[in-house]
Amino acid sequence: MDSNLKREIILENYQNPKNKGLLNDETYMKVNMNNESCIDEVNLEVKIENDIIKDIRFDGEACAISTSSTSIMISVLIGKTLTEAETILQNFVNMIDEKPYDKSVLEEAIVYDDIYKNPNRKKCALLSWWGIEKILNQIKNAK
Ligand code: ZN
Repeated sequence: MDSNLKREIILENYQNPKNKGLLNDETYMKVNMNNESCIDEVNLEVKIENDIIKDIRFDGEACAISTSSTSIMISVLIGKTLTEAETILQNFVNMIDEKPYDKSVLEEAIVYDDIYKNPNRKKCALLSWWGIEKILNQIKNAK
């Protein structure tokens, strides 16, 4: 993807993040994530029904990378099954960690494919994705 287009997508998701604002609905699972190497603190709410991610909401204080990554993650993961979400998550983490990954599953999240050039921003990009990983693990452990 062209680097100007990447910047545009990141900026758009930072300025107009998707699903910002918590619902405090008890049918949502909740997780709080902090990145001590930045200002980022993100609260996520996730609604899962019949093994499908129905909705994700977020709130908190976060930098441009963290906020845009959360927003893009929300767009990519809503409507996916838990198995699909796990595959996407694993490939996203691999991409950030400079390991082999399948770009065909990442959709817009591909915009962070050169974040490795800026190692201290990796955690910013990963923070909310780790939050979803926590929730997926909680579900697995409960089964
Ligand atoms: Zn950050």
